[in-house]
Amino acid sequence: MRIDPKRSRLKMVEEQIMVRGVTDKTVLDAMRKVPRHLFVQDALASRAYSDSALPIGEGQTISQPYIVAFMSELLQIEPGHKVLEIGTGSGYQAAVLAEMGADVFSVERIRKLFLAVRKLLFDLRYFNIQLKLDDGTMGWPEHAPYDRIIVTAGGPEIPQYLIDQLAEGGRMVIPVGDQKRVQRLMLVTKNAGSIETTDMGGCAFVDLVGKQGW
Ligand code: SAH
Repeated sequence: MRIDPKRSRLKMVEEQIMVRGVTDKTVLDAMRKVPRHLFVQDALASRAYSDSALPIGEGQTISQPYIVAFMSELLQIEPGHKVLEIGTGSGYQAAVLAEMGADVFSVERIRKLFLAVRKLLFDLRYFNIQLKLDDGTMGWPEHAPYDRIIVTAGGPEIPQYLIDQLAEGGRMVIPVGDQKRVQRLMLVTKNAGSIETTDMGGCAFVDLVGKQGW
């Protein structure tokens, strides 16, 4: 390979993530560690550490490094947290959360991606990530409640199933928009049973497709 992955990661963290204001050391450390070039197709490995999302097949994408860092920081992960991710995709975001000490449960609806990630995460020995092939807009009720929920695809609403599966004191980040490919990143918190949502800015994710998605 033409790139030096370790050096590329240090540069990525400094030049794309720290400069944009992410300071959480557990996020920065995790992103210095996860081998992002292994989560993209071989032909794109040399671009794995560039400042953009990249195609991963099936019309889906691996998120831009900064977005992964920003969402991970918003979640305020603590070791041992149970985290539900909807939209496994490449598995990169799940690996970052696992490096931060979370127990990750990740749902993907496309079989081909699910199978590829299962193999990759096993080979990389990420044993604290569990995967499921399903419509994630309905969550993963068997393991609920979750301390944290992250949705990495954009739908028209915040699925009620996910709100119900969020633990008391929990936090969820989710892109929401009534137009496809244009969303606001919403931070949802649950305290004493009441839900608060905060708009954290604009974003552009692929479609959340399912019962409570598109
Ligand atoms: N977190 C991923 C980003 C993947 S893109 C990464 O780090 O690479 C979003 C993914 O969400 C796509 O793979 C898409 O197939 C998946 N997706 C869309 N709707 C879904 C649903 N209802 N349930 C589960 N996965 C879904």
